Amino acid sequence: MSISSTYLDSLTPSAIRSITAKIRDKASQGIKIDSFAGGLPAPDLFPVKELEEITVKAFQEEGGEVIQYAASDGYTPLREEIARLMKEKFDVTNITFKNVFITCGSQQGLNYISKGLIEDGDCVVCETPTYVGAIDSIKAYNPTVIGVHMDDDGINLEELEAVLRGNTVKFIYLIPDFQNPSGRSMSVEKRKQIVELAEKYDTYIYEDAPYSLISFTGNIMPAVKSFDKYNRVIYAGSFSKTIAPGLRVGWIVADEESITKLVYMKMRDDLQVNNIAQRQVYGYLYNYNFDEHLATIQGIYKERRDCMLQAVKTYFPEDTKVVVPEGGLFMWLELNPSIDTLQMFDYVFSKNIAYVPGTFFCVGEKGLNTMRLNFATLDTDVIQTKIAELGTLIKSYMEA
Ligand code: PMP
Repeated sequence: MSISSTYLDSLTPSAIRSITAKIRDKASQGIKIDSFAGGLPAPDLFPVKELEEITVKAFQEEGGEVIQYAASDGYTPLREEIARLMKEKFDVTNITFKNVFITCGSQQGLNYISKGLIEDGDCVVCETPTYVGAIDSIKAYNPTVIGVHMDDDGINLEELEAVLRGNTVKFIYLIPDFQNPSGRSMSVEKRKQIVELAEKYDTYIYEDAPYSLISFTGNIMPAVKSFDKYNRVIYAGSFSKTIAPGLRVGWIVADEESITKLVYMKMRDDLQVNNIAQRQVYGYLYNYNFDEHLATIQGIYKERRDCMLQAVKTYFPEDTKVVVPEGGLFMWLELNPSIDTLQMFDYVFSKNIAYVPGTFFCVGEKGLNTMRLNFATLDTDVIQTKIAELGTLIKSYMEA
């Protein structure tokens, strides 16, 4: 008999992973899918040679220490590097390594905060649309999840305040930079105001920031955390999109007392993040040129974004609305209201192209005519050809 409980039996694969499974299924039959669906960064940009050098050197110099049990709060030199990065890039100035806790990707941070904070009767507020993996992680602890609409410059603060006034909101889940899925970024003014709202309504902000360094304009915004005078903001960063996601190295920045509590959770959960991965990330930040690497990623993703934007404008139906992302991995499209992108998915997939129906990301609204496209993974010639095909398919679907 398989393991069973109300919780276990309620679990389903995440919506995006089920698309990935379909793609793998076709691949096993020898059919190649050109996927705009995944959340993946481009693997040809991972610094493979450098990580290999760092690993060999670490073993040569430190032997078994590299794979010994280690501290639950993380590898201290890495925590110091991250504290430096937080000051240099995001204006989070009044911190030391003691405010930094290393997590197994930012996903783990989200799970810890949800598990740690959510109690019976609580609400969690998020942007709609938002990252589907966050919705799944938060819902595991049974809060009421309330979606608040976004303007072009981030979450709508009037709507947010109305929700905060009428509910016990434990935290506000935000992706302020190059949001997944919408590509939007929050203005500096709103960043300041939302911290004040959190203080006024006695709630926290979970600032999820895995895309913040992938800016196409060179403009990197101060973190919401940088305006936090009250210890209301828990900041989560990740190297998944800037170094490599399989390393599973992310971090949380918070006040020392909160960090201690999270570390206690980690001791009960998985003890520590993989030592080798932490050393690889530290070695990369410290000994190689991270800024140059970021510039390469930014340049290539920008070229791919431009290519996709041009192709969408040329080949998609004229009434398609596009949010132009100034960074990150994703483009968000709103099609003619008559189109249901979830229903259209199988038709497009039968022609070996994949996207994510936008409704998966929506909370409290349907968003049936929306879709998310990843522009980062495929080369420009493929983007050009396949977006043209996708545009033609959408037009023929509309006419059918
Ligand atoms: N937050 C957001 C907004 C994401 O898009 C993702 C991954 N796609 C994550 C968190 C999880 O990232 P990590 O690999 O750092 O766990």
